[in-house]
Amino acid sequence: MLSVLDMFRVGVGPSSSHTVGPMRIGGRVRRSLAAQDWPAGARLVVTLQGSLAFTGHGHGTLRAAALGLLGHEPETIDMAAAELDLAALHSGGRLQVEGRTVHFAPDADIRLDYDTRDLLHPNAMQVVVVHGDAVLLAQDWYSTGGGFIASRRQLEQAADDDRVSAGAAVPHPFGSAADLLEVAQRLGLAFDAIILANEAAMRPPELTLLGLDRIAAVMMACIDRGLTTSGILPGGLKVERRAPQLWRQVQDGRSRNEPERLFDLLNVYAMAVNEENAAGGQVVTAPTNGAAGIIPAVMRHYCETTAQQRRFLLTAGAIGLLYKQRASISGAEMGCQGEVGVACSMAAAGLAAIWNASPQQVANAAEIGMEHNLGLTCDPVGGLVQIPCIERNAIGAVKAANAARLALHRPGQGRVTLDEVIETMRQTGVDMSHKYKETSQGGLAVNVVEC
Ligand code: SF4
Repeated sequence: MLSVLDMFRVGVGPSSSHTVGPMRIGGRVRRSLAAQDWPAGARLVVTLQGSLAFTGHGHGTLRAAALGLLGHEPETIDMAAAELDLAALHSGGRLQVEGRTVHFAPDADIRLDYDTRDLLHPNAMQVVVVHGDAVLLAQDWYSTGGGFIASRRQLEQAADDDRVSAGAAVPHPFGSAADLLEVAQRLGLAFDAIILANEAAMRPPELTLLGLDRIAAVMMACIDRGLTTSGILPGGLKVERRAPQLWRQVQDGRSRNEPERLFDLLNVYAMAVNEENAAGGQVVTAPTNGAAGIIPAVMRHYCETTAQQRRFLLTAGAIGLLYKQRASISGAEMGCQGEVGVACSMAAAGLAAIWNASPQQVANAAEIGMEHNLGLTCDPVGGLVQIPCIERNAIGAVKAANAARLALHRPGQGRVTLDEVIETMRQTGVDMSHKYKETSQGGLAVNVVEC
């Protein structure tokens, strides 16, 4: 079973599927390059397909792939060193890995293939090493959302497996919300306690808690940077960062009453994170980079203690695992309902848990958080993670709080179950035109003048 710590990865913006994932793939390929000698003249060629091609430039995919090949990792990247390494690669056209050398000039050797549609996943990345007509290495990789990656073999196996019931190694395996609720009711445990027990099968509990605390700390630091960093976001759309000014207005007491102040705070926290993300700063996938602002914003406003932050993240993570296992958290597969919709659902559940809701009410909060995001398309203007993404996170944070409130007013199971809404999201994502799945081929992306 996946870990909740996998749902919250520390990385860099602007995209988990198009930046973090490709960088991680680059790292895996680097290991393969280090494993054997290459003849003089061998050349590495990377081909980005599907959504990675369509929005690769705006999402920084080409740069991320090169950085991964150079040995940089999303969690630990030193931006200054990365820039130097990239400049050397661009001027030298060679990649050196533990004494092995292959030709690799990123401008020529990272190619965009807009025509091939890989049926396994729309975020496909082909890697070959060629020497003359001979292909010395060929690998197919996929960036499957939220920074997760998979090889072709892994995805083919996953397609054959029952993707939901792979949890035998933990004390409380669950493949659905119904399973999770059954465990909660039978043992009298909250979702966070169930997840903590499962995580203990993967590592000592103190390391899980340390991991959660680090995630919370990175999230809060990201908000703090976003609240105080002004300027124009990169990419050419000339989008100005709005969080610092809104933050000053909130500090000056411009919100006229408590409801206004609540909206302003949730909005500004979420926008602070997503402006940092758009600028390529350090963020936590929650569950993706594009949707990274919702969970930190709700946590920041409602969690006053470390214990509350842990409970929030464990509960939200439990809901995220359900979406990851039963559907997808990839905008390229599901549209924005799989990113902002899932983040809203996770945050609603986390907040309900903080408010001491019953497990059923927590599940209801998650259900409501998704139900009113169903059909949400992904149509980022200019292929950048800015419009509509930044404001959409603010809206998602407010919606999550409202979903938790609604859930608290209903003690039992509502008419729609969490499993039903997850399956509805999946089917809606499958039916959605590829124009609205992180390709910038439809919606706002074609109706908004970019300059
Ligand atoms: S529209 Fe939604 S899914 Fe698409 S890039 Fe923006 S946040 Fe991600």
